[in-house]
Amino acid sequence: VSLLLTNIGELVTNGGDAAGPGGFASVTGAALVIQGDRVAWTGPASQAPDADHRIDCGGRAVLPGFVDSHAHLVFAGERSAEFAARMAGTPYQAGGIATTVAATRAASDERLRANLRALWAEMLAQGTTTFECKSGYGLTVADEQRSVALAAELTPEVTFLGAHVVPPEYTADRDGYLDLVCGPMLAACAARARWVDVFCERGAFTPDEARAVLSAGQAAGLIPRIHAGQLGPGPGIRLAVELGAASADHCTYLSGADVDALAAGNTVATLLPGVEFSTRNPYPDARRLLDAGATVALATDCNPGSCFTSSMPLAVALAVREMRMTTQEAIWAATAGGARALRRDDVGHLRPGARADLILLDAPSHVYLAYRPGVPLVSAVWQDGELAAGAPLA
Ligand SMILES: [Zn+2]
Repeated sequence: VSLLLTNIGELVTNGGDAAGPGGFASVTGAALVIQGDRVAWTGPASQAPDADHRIDCGGRAVLPGFVDSHAHLVFAGERSAEFAARMAGTPYQAGGIATTVAATRAASDERLRANLRALWAEMLAQGTTTFECKSGYGLTVADEQRSVALAAELTPEVTFLGAHVVPPEYTADRDGYLDLVCGPMLAACAARARWVDVFCERGAFTPDEARAVLSAGQAAGLIPRIHAGQLGPGPGIRLAVELGAASADHCTYLSGADVDALAAGNTVATLLPGVEFSTRNPYPDARRLLDAGATVALATDCNPGSCFTSSMPLAVALAVREMRMTTQEAIWAATAGGARALRRDDVGHLRPGARADLILLDAPSHVYLAYRPGVPLVSAVWQDGELAAGAPLA
């Protein structure tokens, strides 16, 4: 079955020849044909081929679905009191994760599944069509295993994050916990995960510990990614590049050597401005990364502690307003950039052959996502060629 979307005011294809954010490209007065679960054709509306069904987009914009390459959605409980205290002046520390670990361990599979599905529905309604999901609030073999299993019910982009923090029962035996993560826990999780991640930060794991975790994950067939440079400077970003990690996430604290390594390597710099917004910290220097030639992605880091938003449009608006990214750079980073961070070439763009994951805005151009922050502009979402959220006609 084929579907023609026509009279598209601006069709963002990300079909440009340039690598990186220069790859943003769009067509005005455009049409797009979906055949099955794929994009079959894009171009000027006047040249569009016939299709079984037809939708007049009324001059509104169509974009690739957002690719949220960093999210922590398998958890129970909430930490609004911690947020309120932080806004009243108490600084964020990584140890708050233990609160969520306790609630997650105590929760039933059904409770965790319901919470995960509700968050996924929320993301989808805001235009996210691909998402990564981490474990990391179980921190026992059984709880990490069920976390990756639950995530795998909804996404192929599952990340084993047993090395999120050292859980309270191992405070006096860090090495024992590292052995558990790199041994039985990894063995229990690797079959359902694609990625291995570690929180390389003061208060979480040291660079040597991070190297051990990522190397063990690689030996088990997983591809590394890392949390680094969120709370302070350190060697985590360079470690990620050295190990060939797909992405180094946060990058809020960047040295010149970090920027050089990211620009020269294949590791994407994934920026999570919702975290800085929600922790009232300085934003990462996106301009410095972009100007150096690094590949930048935007993601939410949706989690109950440091950033409880599932909104990619918010990440775009913050990147433009607070991080001096252009609107085109921000949209590329939230779509094609996220796809790079997940090493996917079937999403994040709308060239023929792409997965038919796309969003219709109730606005004439992508600029409105930053120009009208906080306004729900995503009016319809197609995933794999099927209408998955919203409605195409106002
Ligand atoms: Zn995170």
